[in-house]
Amino acid sequence: MLTKKGVSDFEVAGKRVLVRVDFNVPITDGVVTDDARIRAALPTLNYLLEQNAKIVLLSHLGRPADAPDPAFSLAPVAPVLASLLGRPVQFVPDTVGDQARRAVAALGPGEVLLLENVRFSPEEKANDSDFARKLAGFGEVFINDAFGTAHRAHASTAGVAQYLPAGAGLLMASELDTLGALFKDPAHPFVAVLGGSKVSDKLGVIRKLIETVDTLLIGGGMAFTFEAARGNATGASLLEPDWIEPCRELMQRADDKGCLLLLPTDYVVADAFAADAHTQVVAADAIPDAWLGLDIGPATTEGYRVVLTGAKTVFWNGPMGVFEMPAFAAGTRGVAEAICESEATSVIGGGDSAAALKAFGLTGGVSFISTGGGASMKLLEGAELPGVVALDNKEG
Ligand code: ADP
Ligand code: MG
Repeated sequence: MLTKKGVSDFEVAGKRVLVRVDFNVPITDGVVTDDARIRAALPTLNYLLEQNAKIVLLSHLGRPADAPDPAFSLAPVAPVLASLLGRPVQFVPDTVGDQARRAVAALGPGEVLLLENVRFSPEEKANDSDFARKLAGFGEVFINDAFGTAHRAHASTAGVAQYLPAGAGLLMASELDTLGALFKDPAHPFVAVLGGSKVSDKLGVIRKLIETVDTLLIGGGMAFTFEAARGNATGASLLEPDWIEPCRELMQRADDKGCLLLLPTDYVVADAFAADAHTQVVAADAIPDAWLGLDIGPATTEGYRVVLTGAKTVFWNGPMGVFEMPAFAAGTRGVAEAICESEATSVIGGGDSAAALKAFGLTGGVSFISTGGGASMKLLEGAELPGVVALDNKEG
């Protein structure tokens, strides 16, 4: 699958290696509250350190307004990374200016330097070539390990690769290999579970999955646009009217392809979008006016559990309900438990699905959790990722 160069294709001993990582971590009051994305970069960084490379790290954090903003500084990441690597990590509050240049020049083999948030400069998102060239000046080799940002054609993800020998990091490679293998030669039965808030975000992925999977289980907020497509009333549930017709076409297409597309048979509905709302379980064709469906019902959860238990390959994206509120978490939890209990190779995509697994303490029960929400969706849709396209191909 991966025909791009990887870290081991370059001679990096004693060389400056510019690594684009995804350290877009949640930070509260200057403290990193979830270090999963930092940990995900460790295989590549440890490999480069074993090779005695000089490591210059680039990342974005959040969505600053194209200008320096202390709330989006990468400074809090440096001590976390240092403790994970077991060695000092130098941070400079500069990305391409004199301070950054001096720090890069002074870097020795086996040392690690983290530069400030690339998105403090508007040139980053504009994929400005001068900015990309300045970044490229900090390395002799470029490694892109930021899978989560690979669907963006930015200076630090795509632009910089034009000016340096460029390859994929180990995280990037495992994401591309794992997600690619889903469509290449999956073991059957292959079951996909799709949920989350909007169907419009995921239509492309569903269309692609229908080609390959045996069964597609639908839940979450997106289910109600499908309900409308099959003629059911949806009360005050999340609904995307413009997508009713595309959903109807998808159901028809699934039928034509021999893919079993299952919709919930029951829902947990509430009289308000609130943790303490009144709730009841109703049949899918009996959602009362003014009530909103906030979780799949117990009969649906049980049915989905049976399907998942027999699966050999599972792809899951999107919670089955508003799992952030305990009253509407049972469907997501039931599906997550069934995936963990099955012997299937299981691949999880989507930030909120990963967060749900974490909240349930079930992250250890699945085969692979993608670090890229938007990027994994784009890849599964069959789109080319600019951050990957920009990397050098392997010869031969
Ligand atoms: P992911 O990040 O895993 O791709 P999404 O971002 O598409 O998932 O959707 C996650 C969100 O969908 C969660 O915040 C969850 O509360 C919401 N959600 C799930 N079911 C419903 C529902 N029935 N009504 C409204 N929101 C829902
Ligand atoms: Mg999400």
